[in-house]
Amino acid sequence: MSDKERLDIDANAPILGVNKNMKVATEKISKDPINPRNAYMLVKDELLNEGNARQNLATFCQTYMIDEASKLMSESMDKNAIDKSEYPRTAELEKRCVSIIADLWNANPDEKFIGTSTVGSSEACMLGGMAMKFSWRKMAKECNIDINAKKPNLVISSGYQVCWEKFCVYWDIELRAVPMDEDNLSLDPDKLLDYIDEYTIGVVGILGITYTGKFDDMKALDAKLEEYNANHDIKVYMHIDGASGGLFTPFVNPELEWDFRLKNVVSINTSGHKYGLVYPGIGWIVWRDKKFLPEELIFEVSYLGGKLPTIAINFSHSASHIIGQYYNFLRLGYNGYREIHESTRDVAGYLSKELENTGMFYIYNDGYNLPIVCYRLKEDKDRKWNLYELADRLLMKGWQVPAYPLPDNLSDIVIQRIVVRSDLAMNTAQAYIEDLKEAINDLDNARVLYHDKEEIKTFGFTH
Ligand SMILES: *Cc1c(COP(=O)(O)O)cnc(C)c1O
Repeated sequence: MSDKERLDIDANAPILGVNKNMKVATEKISKDPINPRNAYMLVKDELLNEGNARQNLATFCQTYMIDEASKLMSESMDKNAIDKSEYPRTAELEKRCVSIIADLWNANPDEKFIGTSTVGSSEACMLGGMAMKFSWRKMAKECNIDINAKKPNLVISSGYQVCWEKFCVYWDIELRAVPMDEDNLSLDPDKLLDYIDEYTIGVVGILGITYTGKFDDMKALDAKLEEYNANHDIKVYMHIDGASGGLFTPFVNPELEWDFRLKNVVSINTSGHKYGLVYPGIGWIVWRDKKFLPEELIFEVSYLGGKLPTIAINFSHSASHIIGQYYNFLRLGYNGYREIHESTRDVAGYLSKELENTGMFYIYNDGYNLPIVCYRLKEDKDRKWNLYELADRLLMKGWQVPAYPLPDNLSDIVIQRIVVRSDLAMNTAQAYIEDLKEAINDLDNARVLYHDKEEIKTFGFTH
């Protein structure tokens, strides 16, 4: 049969049962085009046995948006966010989002905030880090420090997300990780100043440590920096990595001072696709004042015959996520976000209570700061299973709940983490608890192959 004949047959074939003659492109592009409907089916089938996003309790990323938001986003997929002269209204919506976010983070009206959308927090953190590096270099030169004598350093808790490791590698910076201890899984303010010197470009506070959901104590860290800056010429400021907390805390705990209300916080990032409730592909960064964003990092693009600054690292990408973010702000308003986040937190509280009630788990984070529930197994020498096995068992019911070791000095401790998102309703959470209890019961009574040597799993989980 010639390719042409095959093509004609395939084009008319029923939608299922057509695969036998069809060459699916794997390593090389296939020779001929195929019918669009069949191609759709084939690609859809390729993706068939992936995890079900709604049952993925591992990810912080948004897995549900209402129909109107999805429609608006798919209708605007063709818009290129960077092309501000072709799409000036999109540029305007981005500007409004920056302004809304700066206000949520209590930007001071006497200062001139500046910010941008990014593809996610990783890009935003890179920008925040670069701004700190450039500012430090300028200050160091003014103070006649030999900037080449030592590598500049960045101070952060050992619970950092991998993007900070990337930043330090890309920019040749020493990552000074302050070890966490088990009783206090965050950056210990009393240790902070031990890690700072003239080569410190800045401190990163994490609003929602990825591993556990815990918050650094920004107010205490700010007070330490205030003390340091009072008698040093090279000032050390703080960037807040609010990837997960940045669009959660302002709605549910507006009294908590972690943002631009603190004097030494100069920039903040967040992921719009985490508690900003937009599908993956959007982040934000805001500097409290233009003076903290070195001019070398601002580029100009043409805009309606004029010029508009661009700060982001990425160039072309779809504007649909910016539009989705704006839609959410417009549709939900402050109270809408608050209600959604509060009920997400209630679900996290429920899960944490149920886990505690089993008597088996020690809870590190009960979902109050951020709706993340994080726990380890209590010691029990009669128990023959561990959290990895529990995770495997839950996966049989479709639930993805990762187990992984804590970083560095705490790596003997294996934890499990549930990230509660707005689409995990209370009834689904109850179904999860039933499956969890069944899984525990199965493991307790299973006739499992038992190996004396405990396998050390090496996979981790960093998003
Ligand atoms: C998720 C996360 C990041 C990375 O964010 P992306 O938006 O996925 O690029 C960085 N820092 C923290 C603390 C995070 O939780």
